Amino acid sequence: MPEQVLLSMHIAQFHVLLKRRDPEDFIGGVDSLWNSYCDHVVACFLCGGAVLYPPPRTEFTAEPDNLQSVLAAPLCADCAELSDEVRWDRTRAVLEKLYSEPRAKRQLIVPYRGTFPKPLKRRRVVLAE
Ligand SMILES: [Zn+2]
Repeated sequence: MPEQVLLSMHIAQFHVLLKRRDPEDFIGGVDSLWNSYCDHVVACFLCGGAVLYPPPRTEFTAEPDNLQSVLAAPLCADCAELSDEVRWDRTRAVLEKLYSEPRAKRQLIVPYRGTFPKPLKRRRVVLAE
């Protein structure tokens, strides 16, 4: 059975990730969030389906009762394809249900303790004169 997991990170850590302007660096940083789950099958946050490493999409959302914290949720390929609006509606509904339950039931929320890999070093392209 896929393991349900949500990563929680401090908002400052999330901003470090957002500062990556190069799309490859950004995706590499997002994928690296899941490095400690590379040999696990995690559950899609929206449908519960199996998600293999690295998740096709990671949904980021503010943690409802802690504004200093951002949650990262793995999505399967099908849910990753949903329109932004539908994905957001479903994310909100799942979060509302999760946060209406007693705190003890939120054991799936795991603090992210890793560090992001260094940004890629780009070789400068020198145009011939
Ligand atoms: Zn899914």
